[in-house]
Amino acid sequence: MRTKRIPVAVLGGTGTVGQRFVQLLAHHPWFEVKVVTGSERTVGRAYREGVNWKLNGDVPDGVADLTVQATAPNLDVPVVFSALPTTEAKEYEPQFAAAGYAVITNTSVYRLAPDVPLLIPELNPDHTDLIATQKSNHGWSGFIVASPNCSTTSAILPLKIWDDAFGLRSVIMVTMQAISGAGYPGVSALDITDNVIPYIGGEDYKLENEPKKLLGRVVNGQMALADVTVSAQANRVPVLNGHLASVSVGVGHKPTVDEAIAALQTWQTPTVCQELPSAPQRTVIYRPEPERPQPRLDRDTGDGLAWTVGKVRQCPVLDLRYLALTHNTLRGAASGAILNGELLVVQGYIG
Ligand code: NAP
Repeated sequence: MRTKRIPVAVLGGTGTVGQRFVQLLAHHPWFEVKVVTGSERTVGRAYREGVNWKLNGDVPDGVADLTVQATAPNLDVPVVFSALPTTEAKEYEPQFAAAGYAVITNTSVYRLAPDVPLLIPELNPDHTDLIATQKSNHGWSGFIVASPNCSTTSAILPLKIWDDAFGLRSVIMVTMQAISGAGYPGVSALDITDNVIPYIGGEDYKLENEPKKLLGRVVNGQMALADVTVSAQANRVPVLNGHLASVSVGVGHKPTVDEAIAALQTWQTPTVCQELPSAPQRTVIYRPEPERPQPRLDRDTGDGLAWTVGKVRQCPVLDLRYLALTHNTLRGAASGAILNGELLVVQGYIG
């Protein structure tokens, strides 16, 4: 039983994901936000004044009066959750790791670096074995662990389950991604209203490469990517929150649809997940109704941490197909990163 909470900073604490961190950590049993950082726009101001709060409820009391600090590795906390924009993440995250901080990031910059764990505790908790390699490669006393892209996250769990059960070979996916995935203010209302935008910069590449790492193995401290081919097409759709993925897969051992559904329904999370205070009671929710999952109805399931999966059918081109949905700023960003932090505590990397 932990008696003292671990002080943490939220880098980029005023943004779309930063606000989620602040909200979720307000009553977290293990972590306490002691520092928030921002851009020149907000540094030196009280958080409640600098932030353009977009979530339900008020700015949490413990953070509202904190003065927003500049992003530099001189913060009096051992752990930083990063919701920085890409350019700032590229510059600052290695500085923090070099200075001894545990950097738990949502940003894309280091996701595919061979010595940075790309982590979802329910999928690949052992990938933290890369931390020792990373520290040794760079001579860092701290380290970086990354969460996957929010749309990779929405598709990945059935891929993992069916890879373990049937052997995954190929994937074709189309994503329908919420507006909040672009941050604030994001896509212009004139562009997204009554429309679908079939382009999100860099997203297809992330969708095609992150699964290989997530489904890969760490062998003797080195990353071995999974041998699977992925073709992806990302779309921005007029939904506030919740990324939906429509996926077809080719597998080695051909299951019936009932066997594929049973694999989803009987899958168990790794035992270490039972120790994580934010882990949802049920990680995969299979919905048999033909019109589910839907962003508005399913994104908040399991406090925004569950995968809702439906429409599992034979695929006439590959073998199986499904739809999967997760909340992009919760499971796909802040909540997912907090789970990673909890895993690092349980595994003894921080605390
Ligand atoms: P956002 O709403 O645009 O917020 C970015 C924040 O970064 C702003 O609040 C800004 O602070 C802050 N910032 C800019 N320069 C900074 C600096 N030098 N130091 C500290 N803070 C600085 O973006 P977002 O959607 O939260 O995304 C943040 C990161 O998470 C991005 O890398 C994104 O790719 C990733 N991500 C986002 C989602 C999602 O669903 N939105 C999901 C997964 C990953 P000020 O307010 O002070 O100007």
